[in-house]
Amino acid sequence: MTVRRLAPHATTIFAEVSQLATRHDAINLGQGFPDSDGPASMIEAAAQAMRDGHNQYPPGTGVTDLRHAIADLELAHTGLSRDPDTEVLVTVGATEAIAGAVLGLVEHDDEVVVIEPYYDSYAATVAMAGATRRAARMVPTDGRYRLDAESLRAAFSPRTRAVLVNTPHNPTGAVLPREDLEQIAALCTEFDAIAISDEVYEHLTFDGVEHVSIATLPGMAGRTLRISSAGKMLNCTGWKVGWVTGPADLVAATRTAKQYMSFTGATPLQMGVAHALRNEQEWIGSLRHSLQARRDQLAEILTGVGFDVVVGQGTYFLTADPSPLGVTDAASWCLELPGRIGVAAVPFAPFTDRYSEEWSHLVRFAFCKRPEVLDEAGRRLQALKS
Ligand code: PMP
Ligand code: GLN
Repeated sequence: MTVRRLAPHATTIFAEVSQLATRHDAINLGQGFPDSDGPASMIEAAAQAMRDGHNQYPPGTGVTDLRHAIADLELAHTGLSRDPDTEVLVTVGATEAIAGAVLGLVEHDDEVVVIEPYYDSYAATVAMAGATRRAARMVPTDGRYRLDAESLRAAFSPRTRAVLVNTPHNPTGAVLPREDLEQIAALCTEFDAIAISDEVYEHLTFDGVEHVSIATLPGMAGRTLRISSAGKMLNCTGWKVGWVTGPADLVAATRTAKQYMSFTGATPLQMGVAHALRNEQEWIGSLRHSLQARRDQLAEILTGVGFDVVVGQGTYFLTADPSPLGVTDAASWCLELPGRIGVAAVPFAPFTDRYSEEWSHLVRFAFCKRPEVLDEAGRRLQALKS
């Protein structure tokens, strides 16, 4: 029944794996969501907002105080000055910001460049817009994932309207260095394309590595939409409070599409997030530190079991290659894993255009769980050794 353009995207890998995890009571290192709450003051601010009667629609662009808090943070972190009324738009998670940007800005005969492996909603959203997806790719270089410049250039054409950029990167955990972003920026300028920059993990970088936004590169502020979300930085993925910032004309196009998808998000939750963005920066800093430790904990566990592991400098995720354990098809192996040993992980394959050997042997593990939960996963994973 589903329309042809969406048929290949019928079920997300996250839904599929989480369902298996629930069925088998497995530890879910597949879908990326934390197992502890965000700051107590954020939850209290949202609850208080409900008790205070803030239970009706917020303005279409989002709660005013939240848009101001986002603009203030943007200035502090990137030096970019945004008008909270015309250059900031609150969305129902980053997912809606991505969809709004693509649906509001891409014509059906346009092309959109994605960089594989890419977050699964990109391909589905480009399909919804009826546009054509052109994939560039990342390559493992000196123990980390970098942009492959040649494939990027090959993916751009005079029909390119936009490139979907994601750093810190899901699923590899890579934080794209400035030089890689400069290559993307140069092509955006050459082909007069916009960058839709998914930066939901912007505050979750490790080892002292700094996140660079492509919006801050010369010539890019006027052609970049910068997307972020409270979900990952404040442990509230279920609140679905995201946002997009950028020049007024690009934000207006995104808003046009967004208005007819959800109109607005949940007022009290936006108020809770506004409170946290203003008052809980230290909490976000300590989350960053604890995630770095948990990344190292999980990497050690997986290496001990026999996986080849590549860690990145950001996000919730690391890359594991189970080939040394005799696994050839990671996609089907991931679907068996919850039932077999009580641990869930997601394969790389659904993040790619080419279900080729380049990616099909890889698995993404999420380390955004409590240390004792990672330890228990480690105990269960030992079963793979025999
Ligand atoms: N982009 C990336 C790279 C993600 O990992 C996620 C999941 N947090 C999203 C977008 C969607 O974010 P949200 O849950 O705020 O819609
Ligand atoms: N962003 C989360 C991840 O990559 C999942 C979000 C979802 O389930 N769509 O795991």
